[in-house]
Amino acid sequence: METIPVTPVLVRQDNYVWLFPTAPDQMAAVDPGEAEPVMAFLDRHDLGLSHILITHHHSDHIAGVEPLRQRYQARVTGAAADRHRLPTLDHAVVDGDRLSLGDQSVTVMATPGHTLGHVVYQVGDALFSGDTLFPAGCGRLFEGSAGQMWHSLQKLMALPDDCRLFAGHEYTLLNLGFVRILEPDHQAITDFWQQAQQQVRQGLPTLPVALAQEKQLNPFLRCHQPDIAQRLGLAGQSAEVVFAALRERRNQHY
Ligand code: ZN
Ligand code: FE
Repeated sequence: METIPVTPVLVRQDNYVWLFPTAPDQMAAVDPGEAEPVMAFLDRHDLGLSHILITHHHSDHIAGVEPLRQRYQARVTGAAADRHRLPTLDHAVVDGDRLSLGDQSVTVMATPGHTLGHVVYQVGDALFSGDTLFPAGCGRLFEGSAGQMWHSLQKLMALPDDCRLFAGHEYTLLNLGFVRILEPDHQAITDFWQQAQQQVRQGLPTLPVALAQEKQLNPFLRCHQPDIAQRLGLAGQSAEVVFAALRERRNQHY
């Protein structure tokens, strides 16, 4: 897989707008929840904005779309299913669509759960997961069922190990706070927690992370494994039931 150079712009405290090149002097932006910091970055580097990708309709992911579109004439992509609650779309996409954004080819995957119309985008080795999958966590179930979200996460788990995960928020330490209590003796979790703490202390993003690491330590991706079921007192239950219980326990954690 081609390694895509991806740049973060942090907005609204903990939202990431991810930028990647589509041409020598053009970028695409994923989930611009605010326009000003993105404009500042593009202006500083003398870059244009050719495309905007939207994962879902929540305002912390779309509030910057219109001002950016107007200033740069960027073309906007989002889920056809959510057309009625997204900014005007130039490309309305469905699961499995492939589109080219300048030099890059993008694959769309529908991942209902956090919202019903949520989609994620794969570009080379980069997976832009919005609020579906986070390092050591997953999105809240605002609209979809636990079964839908579990199915969505399984689709992401089928992607290659060397995919890099670019999620919509800096939630890693929050998620690890929960996961460390769930599995205090899991060495990979402890190691990741120490690394993430150091990164946050230095003001660095904890993202991206390798999908291989997530498959190993993210309990929301491991609900089909007996050890997670056992920890929740649900030995022998289906992965869907285990996932629902785990998500519920995570909701109680803050
Ligand atoms: Zn959201
Ligand atoms: Fe969000």
